[in-house]
Amino acid sequence: MLKELKREAYEANLLLPKYGLINLTFGNASALNRGRGIFAIKPSGVDYDALRVEDMVLVDLEGEKVEGKFNPSSDTPTHRRLYLGFEKIGGVVHTHSSHATAFAQAGRPIPALGTTHADYFHGEIPVTRKMTAKEIARAYEWETGNVIIERFKKLDPLECPAVLVNRHAPFTWGETVAKAVEIAVAAEYCAHMALMSLRVAPGLASIETALLKKHFHRKHGPGAYYGQKRS
Ligand SMILES: [Zn+2]
Repeated sequence: MLKELKREAYEANLLLPKYGLINLTFGNASALNRGRGIFAIKPSGVDYDALRVEDMVLVDLEGEKVEGKFNPSSDTPTHRRLYLGFEKIGGVVHTHSSHATAFAQAGRPIPALGTTHADYFHGEIPVTRKMTAKEIARAYEWETGNVIIERFKKLDPLECPAVLVNRHAPFTWGETVAKAVEIAVAAEYCAHMALMSLRVAPGLASIETALLKKHFHRKHGPGAYYGQKRS
């Protein structure tokens, strides 16, 4: 059942250690089939080296396991919360990539300092508020999704397809899981560059609005002209 979806999720998960975004088993990717209301996600605690397509676990948007011999990733409720809250996304990625996680642990957004950032994100990569003790004790992973959704009340999740969970690490998303992986790479790269820029010029201000908008909109939205025309 849904073999293609499992393959998509599997390939995305393998890209995470390949791109250096994952150490040990800290991270996961999932792919959603919105028509069926089912997503494929990495099994919990399985080494990337040992991972097989058939190990991917299918879960529905009510949170019930549909297929798979393993338990799904412990972060599954966060992925489900994002799929329910962000209607246009089809893939979610979570990593603890080191530079983005450094900002998350510090509770600071990743500032938009240059055009590389602006190519992917229409402004800073925001950080959530800290979770309360009650939220942490309750359904922790679901509540993690809730603080992300809360942070995006006034933001478009496709204009800023990444977030830092305070004291934790980044989550990224996209229309496909492959896109969500690309965003995870971009977020880590931008975090790294931001740290270096701030070292060169402490107190450096964000990129000028005109330049931010130029770079974002030449790649995204109705006026986009970057790259090759899609048929
Ligand atoms: Zn995590």
